[in-house]
Amino acid sequence: MNAKTKTRANQTCLVKQCAAVGIVSRGLCQKCYYAARYLIREGKTSWEELQKLGLARATHAKLAESPLAVAFTKAKATAQVAQARKRTK
Ligand SMILES: [Zn+2]
Repeated sequence: MNAKTKTRANQTCLVKQCAAVGIVSRGLCQKCYYAARYLIREGKTSWEELQKLGLARATHAKLAESPLAVAFTKAKATAQVAQARKRTK
């Protein structure tokens, strides 16, 4: 696609025991990325936890700062506050 995709393809997987070359997302190779997604889907972990354990990187900072991401975080927080208020009622 572009130069960024190329450099990512030359990076090694974040997981030391793996060290495969070629990053898909979050600093992980395809195998580890799908394994992580599987664990998250199974409810065994979350991206936040994997990040804390050093087994995944945060999503692209630019994406996290995008208008949609910011609006989403805000909307979700508002929804959670509304829900919490309902519960305490
Ligand atoms: Zn890997």
